[in-house]
Amino acid sequence: MKICFATNNPKKIEEVKAALGNDFTIVSLKEIGCYEELPETGDTLDFNAFQKARHVFENYQVSCFADDTGLEVQALNGAPGVYSGRYAGEPRSDERNVDLLLENMADQSDRNAQFRTVIALILDGKEYSFEGIAKGEITNSRSGEGGFGYDPVFRPENHDQTFAELSMQEKNAISHRGKAVRKLIDFLDSLK
Ligand code: IMP
Repeated sequence: MKICFATNNPKKIEEVKAALGNDFTIVSLKEIGCYEELPETGDTLDFNAFQKARHVFENYQVSCFADDTGLEVQALNGAPGVYSGRYAGEPRSDERNVDLLLENMADQSDRNAQFRTVIALILDGKEYSFEGIAKGEITNSRSGEGGFGYDPVFRPENHDQTFAELSMQEKNAISHRGKAVRKLIDFLDSLK
């Protein structure tokens, strides 16, 4: 089955391809001729995921899915949440986002946080969604070179290492996106 993953983040495509295996062919936005920035103007992960997927389906008529992910930090009342990508303002910068998060968490003893991913799927015009959550803690400083975004400062529960210190396979096995993707795969498999 050929399906477009509506993201401009090559790291996400890599992660999802590794999780999906060979039964599905993932095509990128560029491969369907979509070069514009996808709209992402809502204040919930659900809204944004569907907004991106609908944009692609309506303009390019291909089955597709889009994800939206937020880091929800308990001591910050769920911030940065849906605004995780723009936490330190525009232009988006992982480095500045992580700096600001560490600064805002400097005096916090409650380090609990979770990543939440919503995947919006549009298949032959019908809409479905899948959610994945990874619980963990915000560390006091960065560790690790792998992954992307907030990975160097997020230590998943029951682990001593941050997401950035795990291999992609190890991260996929426990991550928010890995969990949401497995729900997506189970659903796609059930249609076979
Ligand atoms: P979006 O889903 O691309 O909108 O991501 C929002 C923000 O969360 C961006 O700053 C991403 O870098 C960050 N983010 C998304 N997924 C992950 C992840 O798996 N690990 C770390 N940061 C992530």
